[in-house]
Amino acid sequence: MKVKNLIIGAGPCGLGAGYKLKENNNDDFLILERESCAGGLSRSFITDEGYLFEIGGHVHFSEDATYLDAISNVFGKENIFFHERKAYVYMDSYFVDYPFQSNLEQVRDKRILDNKVDENLKVQNFHDWLNKTFGDKVCEIFMTPYNSKVWSHSLEDMSFEWIEKRVATPVERKTKSWGPNSQFFFPKKGGTSAIWNSFAKYIGEEKIKYNTSVISIDLENKQVTTDNNLIIEFENLLNTTPLINLVKYANLKIDHQDLKFNSLYCLGLGIEGKAPKKIEDKSWIYFPGKAPFYRMTVLSNYSNNNTPNDHCYSLLLEMTSSNKEIDTIELENMALAYLEEEGFIENRESIQSKWSFQSKFAYPIPTLGRNENLEEINRTLDKYSIKSKGRFGAWKYELGNQDHCFMQGYNWAKDV
Ligand SMILES: Cc1cc2nc3c(=O)[nH]c(=O)nc-3n(C[C@H](O)[C@H](O)[C@H](O)COP(=O)(O)OP(=O)(O)OC[C@H]3O[C@@H](n4cnc5c(N)ncnc54)[C@H](O)[C@@H]3O)c2cc1C
Repeated sequence: MKVKNLIIGAGPCGLGAGYKLKENNNDDFLILERESCAGGLSRSFITDEGYLFEIGGHVHFSEDATYLDAISNVFGKENIFFHERKAYVYMDSYFVDYPFQSNLEQVRDKRILDNKVDENLKVQNFHDWLNKTFGDKVCEIFMTPYNSKVWSHSLEDMSFEWIEKRVATPVERKTKSWGPNSQFFFPKKGGTSAIWNSFAKYIGEEKIKYNTSVISIDLENKQVTTDNNLIIEFENLLNTTPLINLVKYANLKIDHQDLKFNSLYCLGLGIEGKAPKKIEDKSWIYFPGKAPFYRMTVLSNYSNNNTPNDHCYSLLLEMTSSNKEIDTIELENMALAYLEEEGFIENRESIQSKWSFQSKFAYPIPTLGRNENLEEINRTLDKYSIKSKGRFGAWKYELGNQDHCFMQGYNWAKDV
């Protein structure tokens, strides 16, 4: 088989490419997808009991008009609920408005009064950047424990040039409305998957080969081999799978030791009864303290269709690890004990539905050596008309949201 433009992966990035190719009547393309459906990390799952969960709390927001127009065009604004973000930080028994650093007057820990910035600190990594930007006590109380939990990686091994728009600095004191996701939208029905399924439908299901995993790439002959014995010749290739996998498929002998990532364990809970008052209007909550999870989303607040009826609510917990085996039973027990102790659930008997998911690839970590690795790999791929884009294809956390990834695919398709 031969195609002009071959795309690996039907997540937002691959679908962005397919959407633009379709718009341009550039019909000579094919998308290969390992799973039986589209959406990648941005897909949704519905339990037998009728609760909807996702691979981490996914919300939609973007400053990119092309992306928003594409969603209106393919999915329709009428199928969306718009929300004001109601995000908080939970300091083990009380809430601080998000962003934490803009609401220090709400922090009850007395250490905050001695917060000091070391003006002489020479910033060399993310850890230094946090200390220099926010001060020692803000870091001790929130920034360091929270970021260590999310990244599951040494903050000293992380760079800081990716931070713009990802971390509010103290001068940005717009309090509740800081950041690109201060307003967001979520599908009325079917969760985030509904958006990506509508793109897959628009592109044409015949253009996406599901249950088809790429296993090797012959660079010299420009051929891809799949696990179901397809051999596909391409002119241009867009890879959206994790770059370190592409390096393996193509048997490239290039250093990629600084392309580090963490893994995710999500636990979704469908709970009988009304949500406790303290979370009845909240979108999501960050947990720097002893909770085993770093974030909890009150998914039932995004759409009434995320639960089977109005007499229940749903919580989605996110936990990361540094690519090692984790004891999910222990984590689940710790999480449930914490939720009970802090009154987020009345008791374990009220849990009607439980869902869990492990994703090997969750956050591409902006390590100090990342860019050097990326430059060398991309230089080599360029020689073979291969581009690697998307959250783990481009391996850039700062450009790793759905809109970024969709637009990377879209822009690739403009040029082929
Ligand atoms: C915890 C968490 C929370 C997030 N929250 C948000 C949010 O609130 N808002 C937001 O905009 N973004 C969010 N994101 C980011 C969002 O998930 C990504 O932007 C998006 O899914 C990336 O799209 P992609 O196409 O680049 O990659 P992916 O979604 O990873 O898609 C890649 C596709 O390639 C397929 N594939 C992999 N290997 C192969 C192979 N060998 N052969 C064939 N196919 C293969 C996969 O099955 C997958 O479908 C979040 C991510 C995480 C992890």
